[in-house]
Amino acid sequence: MLDDKDRIFTNLYGLHDPGLEAAKKRGAWNGTAEFMALGDDWIVTQIKESGLRGRGGAGFPTGLKWSFMPKEVGDRPHYLVVNADESEPGTCKDRDLMRHDPHLLIEGCLIASFAMRANACYIYLRGEYIDERIALQKAIDEAYAAGHIGKNACGSGYDFDLYLHHGAGAYICGEETALLESLEGKKGQPRLKPPFPANAGLYGCPTTVNNVESIAVTPTILRRGSGWFSSFGRPGNVGTKVFCISGHVNTPCNVEEEMSIPLKTLIEKHAGGVVGGWDNLKAIIPGGSSVPCLPRDICDTVLMDFDALKEHRSGLGTAAVIVMDQSTDMVRAIMRLAYFYKHESCGQCTPCREGTGWMWRVLTRMCEGKAEMAEIDMLLDVSQEIEGHTICALGDAAAWPVQGLIRHFRHEIEDKITSYRADKSVHAVAAE
Ligand code: SF4
Repeated sequence: MLDDKDRIFTNLYGLHDPGLEAAKKRGAWNGTAEFMALGDDWIVTQIKESGLRGRGGAGFPTGLKWSFMPKEVGDRPHYLVVNADESEPGTCKDRDLMRHDPHLLIEGCLIASFAMRANACYIYLRGEYIDERIALQKAIDEAYAAGHIGKNACGSGYDFDLYLHHGAGAYICGEETALLESLEGKKGQPRLKPPFPANAGLYGCPTTVNNVESIAVTPTILRRGSGWFSSFGRPGNVGTKVFCISGHVNTPCNVEEEMSIPLKTLIEKHAGGVVGGWDNLKAIIPGGSSVPCLPRDICDTVLMDFDALKEHRSGLGTAAVIVMDQSTDMVRAIMRLAYFYKHESCGQCTPCREGTGWMWRVLTRMCEGKAEMAEIDMLLDVSQEIEGHTICALGDAAAWPVQGLIRHFRHEIEDKITSYRADKSVHAVAAE
């Protein structure tokens, strides 16, 4: 369990003033110019050594990603883009960071941009996040007024501008290349890769896209040392992490904890336990709606990190833990998620555009039991035809929940089909 002294986000619950002076007292903007004086390579090395992996879902090593940017700025400027388009169902961590600890994010934007030789950074904010936009813009204005960003940021001699861009509320704009398209004023549709953003990103220029939490933790990593950050969690899965716990728990919450904490401990210590007790648990989606659900026997012992969840054919994703107790109709729950992905498909690739709607329609029938047993395998087969055959990861995100349902709760679909048939025969006999 993480000690209070080791929390990076000390105002996660908004109990204190998010303003500049209060943020400075909590440690923000402390030593920023000194870190910059040590050079861009030094910063990238620290982040690499810290073992930080991207907090937006994919878990790619952050320092390594930064090192993909060209070493020299040529005739194309470099950009940092912060992905604040937090839209994965169950995920609500970045909004609290932006509302309550915005200066850690802004300081991180300066440090990361400097490390990648970018003089401008855009924060792409989810359309529905109105309060967050107001809070973040206020903090950006404060940082400009104090000389922390802008010309000669923090007195470092480096010029840095930060822009807040408001999206229009499409889930697909959380995909990094769709986000860049949208930022350029176009329809938010993912690009084919390669080229990757580090080569041709925003306006065709070298760009790195990072999640809010990934950027907001970097100043503290520099202040406290990469060794301190990597002392939490297991090798390859280190650091602290903000978990979002929702669903059938007594006290849903966001909480910063150390990586690799057991899932059961996370829920019992911070979310007041499962409603009705741990034995009343049916399933948990451990990393936002796109990762496969896990049944209780796996939840009993699984650790909350990238590798442990992957071993159980699920994922850490955004670390949004969605808890479902015994009252949950698993087929209906996954059908609802299938509807979400069908609705959010941008329609560029056939497997995603056609497959997401097909899966939703089949699951809708299955909720009533109006399906053939053979359709369960057909549904699995179609999900596997979508997975890995699309331009972006939304196809996978739509396929995985369905695969998790069939892997662990196939019997619930079969029971519905059997009961529907039994009902039909009773009515047929009664009508004779
Ligand atoms: Fe669009 Fe879906 Fe293809 Fe992604 S996978 S590009 S959302 S159609």
